[in-house]
Amino acid sequence: MNEQQHTKPDAVTSPSGVGGKRIAIFGSTGSIGTQALDVIAANPSFFSVEILTAHNNDELLVQQALKFNPNIVVIGDERKYSKVKEGLASTDIKVFTGEKSLEEVAAMDCYDLMLAAIVGYAGLRPTLKAIDSGKAIALANKETLVVAGDIIMQRAVEKRVPVIPVDSEHSAIFQCLIGETRNRIEKIILTASGGPFLGRKPNYLVNVKREHALQHPNWTMGAKITIDSATLMNKGLEMIEAKWLFNLKPDQIQVVVHQQSIIHSMVQFEDGSIKAQMGLPDMKLPIQYALAFPKRIANNFPRLDFRKMNTLSFEEPDLKTFRNLALSMEALQKGGNLPAIMNAANEIAVYAFLKNRVNFLDMTDVIEKTMQKVSFIEKPSLEEYFESDGEARNFAADLIKL
Ligand code: NAD
Ligand code: MG
Repeated sequence: MNEQQHTKPDAVTSPSGVGGKRIAIFGSTGSIGTQALDVIAANPSFFSVEILTAHNNDELLVQQALKFNPNIVVIGDERKYSKVKEGLASTDIKVFTGEKSLEEVAAMDCYDLMLAAIVGYAGLRPTLKAIDSGKAIALANKETLVVAGDIIMQRAVEKRVPVIPVDSEHSAIFQCLIGETRNRIEKIILTASGGPFLGRKPNYLVNVKREHALQHPNWTMGAKITIDSATLMNKGLEMIEAKWLFNLKPDQIQVVVHQQSIIHSMVQFEDGSIKAQMGLPDMKLPIQYALAFPKRIANNFPRLDFRKMNTLSFEEPDLKTFRNLALSMEALQKGGNLPAIMNAANEIAVYAFLKNRVNFLDMTDVIEKTMQKVSFIEKPSLEEYFESDGEARNFAADLIKL
């Protein structure tokens, strides 16, 4: 069988024979993906790995596959197919390639839970396919909800599949809401570290270079989200992500800068009581929680010691300097296809910044102009979300002359 040409892969059963939840990691070579594999390696009786996918890091994908022995791997870049096939020649692991196979594999029977850890818009279709196939989702890919949150959550309800957040803030809120199903949320408080340029002003930011923006004070993450954290776009995307995950109105979502990243976020209830979830900043914890939910698994991650923690500080975000957050609030308020337009323009702008094609502040201008230009649709269909994404990408790329 040539899996490359094979359009409808057959369902295959677990070769590992180990019990526990069967996990598909979409985006296994990324920051979230590799940390998830660490969690799984430490808990072989809880999890088995059934699917691994990567965009173009063939070497790491092969290495991961040899270690975790999944049923299937997908290498997005078709030019890397033969390398992966060769690397796994001594195994019976099936190898697929191309964008379409991500969706086909997402629809297969061989797994229980998808960890959606692809970065950006590219994660939307496979995640939707997994939901339509009745799979539980551990969601790291926030862009999926930013683009088409109403449709994603609606489908999840129809299919009765849980969407468990991996993003640390949303994991915190999710954990605070356990046992509170009958109680109304007054508001949620999303904490933001403020990123590497907290306190800086535009005259400084205009000269910021790629390497500097890639240094985050508290978290080590993929390049795109690291830049999003430096511009505060990440917090904006998270506000929209929270709206859909927890069915909130825009004015129920507040952002507060909390530099130490110890309180991962909070929920305030109608009686004024506030619950917070805390811990050292370590993505393995929300990843493990989402994979194991509703169980908590013992681990030896470093513990927070309050006796050594003498300051927890809070301040308002500077919306005048970090205008991406203000634009996100506008997109959150107006809704429709505006968040999808903003997200697409942001992906193009971040990509251009990472290639040293635009400066730090230009990113915001590109996003703002694109949001003004692409036609607003109040209640888009899925197709219209896709079209808005494409239109916004083209417009933003033209602005930058990519
Ligand atoms: P990353 O860049 O480190 O990894 C991205 C993964 O997606 C890689 O495996 C890559 O091969 C794959 N990928 C990239 N482009 C693709 C494409 N076009 N098609 C298919 N696969 C593709 O990113 P990351 O930091 O792990 O982030 C993943 C997602 O999780 C993002 O949506 C991010 O916002 C979210 N997230 C990450 C963190 C973190 O700590 N890294 C925290 C919260 C949320
Ligand atoms: Mg986050």
